Amino acid sequence: MKLLNTSQKRPFINRFSGNLVIFCSDERFVQATLDFLKKDLGVETSDLVVIAGGPAFIPKQESSLIERLNLLIYAHQIKKVILISHENCGYYKHHHPNLSSETLEKLQIEDLKKSLIFLKERGLKGQAFLAYVEKDQILFKEINQE
Ligand SMILES: [Zn+2]
Repeated sequence: MKLLNTSQKRPFINRFSGNLVIFCSDERFVQATLDFLKKDLGVETSDLVVIAGGPAFIPKQESSLIERLNLLIYAHQIKKVILISHENCGYYKHHHPNLSSETLEKLQIEDLKKSLIFLKERGLKGQAFLAYVEKDQILFKEINQE
């Protein structure tokens, strides 16, 4: 077996924070999202579910992904889930090719709200955000359940 990067050993921290973050795999938003989590929300460590459409699978109740979510919640003692969607998400455009970007954003916000309710019903803390681009900067606005 060949060992790679033996000069850059990283410590293994054998504990779970109880945080889980779910966001879209769109690479244009990934680094900003990781920075936002750490610098703005103070989330230093978390489990991640990074998948096209991010938390869209929750309101759709996609069974294989819900099963994995439930497994993480149980096995990693998840207490808090942060959901992040982003504007102009290709997943939403693909599934709703005839909707305007305004209507898509409304749908994404509704999906985040439904997801917050789903989490609350399981006794989990939830927080949801929509990432958007303004003057070449990625910003995040919080979406409340209401
Ligand atoms: Zn996306």
